Amino acid sequence: MEEAALALLAPQFGEVVTKAAQPLFQPIFDLEVPHMAFGRIALLGDAAFVARPHCGMGVTKAASDAMALVKALNTHDSVRDALADYSRERTEAGSAIVQHARHLGAYMQAQLKNDLDREMAERYRTPEAVMRETAVPARF
Ligand SMILES: Cc1cc2nc3c(=O)[nH]c(=O)nc-3n(C[C@H](O)[C@H](O)[C@H](O)COP(=O)(O)OP(=O)(O)OC[C@H]3O[C@@H](n4cnc5c(N)ncnc54)[C@H](O)[C@@H]3O)c2cc1C
Repeated sequence: MEEAALALLAPQFGEVVTKAAQPLFQPIFDLEVPHMAFGRIALLGDAAFVARPHCGMGVTKAASDAMALVKALNTHDSVRDALADYSRERTEAGSAIVQHARHLGAYMQAQLKNDLDREMAERYRTPEAVMRETAVPARF
């Protein structure tokens, strides 16, 4: 593993691998909920949706949830109505972000099996594609 790290990674990352006392593997899971509010209880950020890291949207998603929650509470007299409204808006956004990350994850750092996979991987490898597809909330 150390040989591969030195051969394949940037020198700085290769050095980190060779200096680690033991390898650490972190499994990555997508998390989705069907609703973000249950009566007077609301879920925000990673408590509701966790997208794989390729889209770089975790912080934007959590902050956007918080802003939407404040707005909903300020525009309804009833907390339950506010949370129901919040849940409708942000559950859709959270699902869209997880789908987007799944799509990116299928091509970035994946085992590429055929020409289509390779073509898509090339498409997402450009700096322009990274700037366009990651950390941007435009369509969410
Ligand atoms: C290694 C790594 C790299 C990442 N890189 C990026 C990135 O580049 N860009 C990006 O947008 N996102 C990134 N993320 C994702 C991002 O960090 C999260 O999506 C974001 O922090 C979620 O915010 P949150 O407020 O929902 O949860 P958190 O930031 O996890 O906050 C939850 C807080 O609740 C506290 N807590 C937990 N249990 C309890 C309890 N019982 N009582 C009281 N407090 C409690 C925790 O200590 C924590 O402070 C990364 C995540 C990881 C792990």
